[in-house]
Amino acid sequence: MSAPDAPPFPRLYPPASLGVIGGGQLGRMFLQAAQRMGYRTGVLGEIAEGPGPQVAHWSVIGPPDHLPALRSFADQADAVTVEFENVSAPALRWLGRRKVVRPGWRTVWVSQDRLREKTFLAGHGIPLAPWRPVRTEAEWVVAVESLGCPLILKTAASGYDGKGQVRVDEPDQAASAWASLGRVPCVAEGWVAFASEVSVIVARGADGEAVTYPVAWNRHERHILDSTLMPAPVGPVVAQEARRLALAIAEALETVGVLTVEFFLTAEGHLLVNELAPRPHNSGHLTIEGATTSQFEQQVRALCGLPLGGCELVEPAAMANLLGDLWRDREPNWGRMFRLDPGVKLHLYGKRTPAPGRKMGHLTVLDPCRETAIDRVLAARRALVGP
Ligand code: AMP
Repeated sequence: MSAPDAPPFPRLYPPASLGVIGGGQLGRMFLQAAQRMGYRTGVLGEIAEGPGPQVAHWSVIGPPDHLPALRSFADQADAVTVEFENVSAPALRWLGRRKVVRPGWRTVWVSQDRLREKTFLAGHGIPLAPWRPVRTEAEWVVAVESLGCPLILKTAASGYDGKGQVRVDEPDQAASAWASLGRVPCVAEGWVAFASEVSVIVARGADGEAVTYPVAWNRHERHILDSTLMPAPVGPVVAQEARRLALAIAEALETVGVLTVEFFLTAEGHLLVNELAPRPHNSGHLTIEGATTSQFEQQVRALCGLPLGGCELVEPAAMANLLGDLWRDREPNWGRMFRLDPGVKLHLYGKRTPAPGRKMGHLTVLDPCRETAIDRVLAARRALVGP
């Protein structure tokens, strides 16, 4: 007979071995949170010197859906999570029969395909930008007619940071637009003249308890996240509604782990869900210093069946991404940045080759005044270039 207070799900305490699929920066920051708590950590990644394997206790290098690599990974991990959603669902199901896998394959499967994701969200009454599926010529014609221009065409699978997207300004660009994406299944979305973009990060435990961070306010450049401010400068009604929608989505997906919901906020104060990520998110990196529990620690806690931590902010926090463009002429001027503002927190992901648009690291600043936090983090980043 089990003890009266035994939970109906496995609990894993240190030094259990936690594995993450994906060897990028999100996996690295998950591993670092787990290591701080005394867990052993491993990565299934494709590049031996990638950000995750550099800091992991153990690594398996190979494609995430390759059976020998999966087998070796499963042998070494007591529990498994993911750092990105483009993991094959059959591979996750295979792992789920052997190990604790959180989030489960169904959550990942829904969020790895924009058509499935939008169908799921619409079916649960979640507000979305107007959209149409584009899988055939006939559907594309209907989409252009019903949505009008401008619209944005996005590949259903494997798009990120604006990759796999094309804006269509005039109906006569339609044919070439779909061809430019290889005529693969797509989603067409009406253009949203949003006032701002916000996101909500939810952590949901195996017992169904869920918590959210304050709303994050996100600014993009060239479709890539540039900077985040938390809490977002939005009123309490919008903030409450964004958190309510994010919790409803996490509940509907029955996700266990961290889920990020990205929204467009219109000038009239309407929230439309843009997309989901079944994992920690770039807009939550500032929770490492800014919140009582970081998004990565919540991922560890949910994976291990531990109670979740608090999501309260220590102080308002701002984050600025460091893209490879900053390395174009020479190494960024770290000394100048720290002299300007010793309070800045620097995170570098250990990537060896900077490339334009590549996320190399980020900066975080906490400040009692929200506006000052964002001004300081942007000033610190500007200080990195120049003499
Ligand atoms: P996504 O990969 O869908 O998150 O898109 C990346 C960025 O492109 C978003 O954060 C927006 O800044 C912009 N974008 C995407 N979809 C739309 C849309 N329907 N209307 C206006 N801007 C969009």
